[in-house]
Amino acid sequence: MKELSALKALLSTPKKIIITTHANPDADALGSSLGLYHFLKNRGHEALVVTPTDYPDFLHWMEGNDEVVVYGEKNHQQVAELFEQADLICCLDFSGLNRIKKLGEMVGSSKAKKLLVDHHLNPEQFADYELWDNKAAATAELIYDLILLLDGKEEINLAIAEALYAGIMTDTGSFKHGSTSAKIHRTVAELMEIGADVNKISRLIYDTNSLNRLRFIGYALMEKLVVNVEYQVAYFVISAEEHERFHLKSGDTEGLVNYALSINGIVVAAIIMEKGGEVKMSFRSVGDYAVNDIASEYFSGGGHKNAAGGISDLGLEETVEKFKSLIPKFQQTHNQKTK
Ligand code: 5GP
Ligand code: MN
Repeated sequence: MKELSALKALLSTPKKIIITTHANPDADALGSSLGLYHFLKNRGHEALVVTPTDYPDFLHWMEGNDEVVVYGEKNHQQVAELFEQADLICCLDFSGLNRIKKLGEMVGSSKAKKLLVDHHLNPEQFADYELWDNKAAATAELIYDLILLLDGKEEINLAIAEALYAGIMTDTGSFKHGSTSAKIHRTVAELMEIGADVNKISRLIYDTNSLNRLRFIGYALMEKLVVNVEYQVAYFVISAEEHERFHLKSGDTEGLVNYALSINGIVVAAIIMEKGGEVKMSFRSVGDYAVNDIASEYFSGGGHKNAAGGISDLGLEETVEKFKSLIPKFQQTHNQKTK
C-alpha cells in the first residue's frame, strides 16, 4: 500500500471524508463504499458516500443506503461544496476520473488528499494514498484488507461485513470467475463469522426481479440476440425506445450479456445500449480474448480482460456498424493471442 503511514496519520484525528465510486454503481462499488463509510464513521470521522449516478433498487438494502448522496443537476452546487470542503476523498472501484462523470472535475480540482482503492488495470496517478491490486477479485476485498491495515478485524461489524460480502459475491460472479482465489474464500469465511447472511444477500441481489425486467429479458433473448457463429460473437442492441417501452430501471440490463456469452462456441459477447443520451457498451469474453483492449482502443473505455465497457460518441446505429466492422479484426487478434 502506497503511503499507509501517512494515511494513518491523517486519520488519527476526525476528518471530513467523501467516498465516491464509478457511475452506475454495482454491488462492489456501493458495497465497498458503504463498508468503508461505516468503518470511518465508527472511527469518529464525518463521512459521506456520493455516487455519480443512481443505482439499482436491489442494492438499497445495504445499511447506510439512505444517507448516500446521488449526484444530479439539482444538487450540483451542494455536492461541489462538499468536495471543496473535504479533507480526504476516497475513490473506490475505478481507475480513471472519467469513470465518475461530473464528479471527476470536482475530485481533480479539490485540495483534499485522495485515496484510491481499486482493482482495475492502469490506474491514473492522481491519488496520494493507494491500495491497488488488479489480482483482487473485488474492491470490497481490498477494503477488507485496508481496514486490517489501518486497524483490525474487530472494527468490522455486521453492516460492513454484509456490504463487503455483496461486493465480493457479485464481482466474482458468485465465486465462479477466474479471479476467485483461496484468499477471497478466507476473507469470506471471516465475513460469515462476523454474521454476514450469505443466503439473504444472494436472494436480495439475484432473486428480486421485477416483472418488467423478466419480460424484457425474454424479449431480448427472443428478438434482439444476434449470433455470429463464424466469428464466435453474440450481442444485443438495445435502443432508448426499448428502455422506455419496458420501463427499464438502473440495473435491469445487468447480467443480460452473460446469456449471450453462455451460448456454446461463443467467446465474445456484447451489449450496445442507448441510454440517457449516450451509447454504452458492455463486453464479456472467455479465455484469453482481451475485451478491455477492444473497449480502450475503439470505445474510450477499459476494464478487465474478460469484462470491459466503454462509451461511443456515435449514434446507436453507427456504433453498431462500427462494432460489426471490427468483429473480423477482433478475431484476428484473438487468433494471434491464442496461438
Ligand atoms: P459493465 O459491462 O458491467 O458495465 O462493466 C464491466 C467492467 O468494464 C467494469 O467492471 C469496468 O471495469 C469496465 N468498464 C465499464 N464501463 C467502462 C467505461 O466506460 N470505461 C472504462 N474505463 N471501463 C469501463
Ligand atoms: Mn469491482
